[in-house]
Amino acid sequence: MANYELPALPYAHDALEPFIDKMTMEIHHGRHHNAYVTNLNKALEGNELLGSSLEDLMKDISKLSPAIRNNGGGHYNHSLFWQVMKPGGSAPEGKLLDAINAAFTSVEEFKKLFANAAMTRFGSGWAWLSVSGGKLVVTSTPNQDNPLMDVAEVNGTPILGLDVWEHAYYLKYQNKRNEYIDGWWNVVNWNEVAARFNKA
Ligand code: MN
Repeated sequence: MANYELPALPYAHDALEPFIDKMTMEIHHGRHHNAYVTNLNKALEGNELLGSSLEDLMKDISKLSPAIRNNGGGHYNHSLFWQVMKPGGSAPEGKLLDAINAAFTSVEEFKKLFANAAMTRFGSGWAWLSVSGGKLVVTSTPNQDNPLMDVAEVNGTPILGLDVWEHAYYLKYQNKRNEYIDGWWNVVNWNEVAARFNKA
């Protein structure tokens, strides 16, 4: 089976400036994400699961090793993260906008709830917007866990994720996670989130 590979960034390292700086993107993608891929391949060396879809790994993650959980989650989460951002950002519309309004009353209220999930995740982890049982939910997970994992408190299909590990923002924002979150809304690729919503 084929090894996992680091996906190329869909834009230049400096494309998300000034909200996410070039050096953070270079280190985050080229070193952190790359290390998750390398270590996932090592963890699955000689294992028949090597090369199976990340979704398949996630759903039975409780049966697999901590190295597969951490690095498989890291590979899945970062692969999603790069895709749900783009220079210039956009706004939710159409069926996704209707679903956000139905679940959270407004985009503004959704953003507050999501930012709160991101702010209150102690230590390292992720905030998520997922489709769970046909409804939109906001959750957070520790470390490199995600809502696809059978160990998650709330299972669902993630359609938007925010990395709140310090490596995602510390160079530019230091301890000011709130300012990183505020800035990040400017680079959310809502077209990609909508595409994931339509498939979920
Ligand atoms: Mn990260």
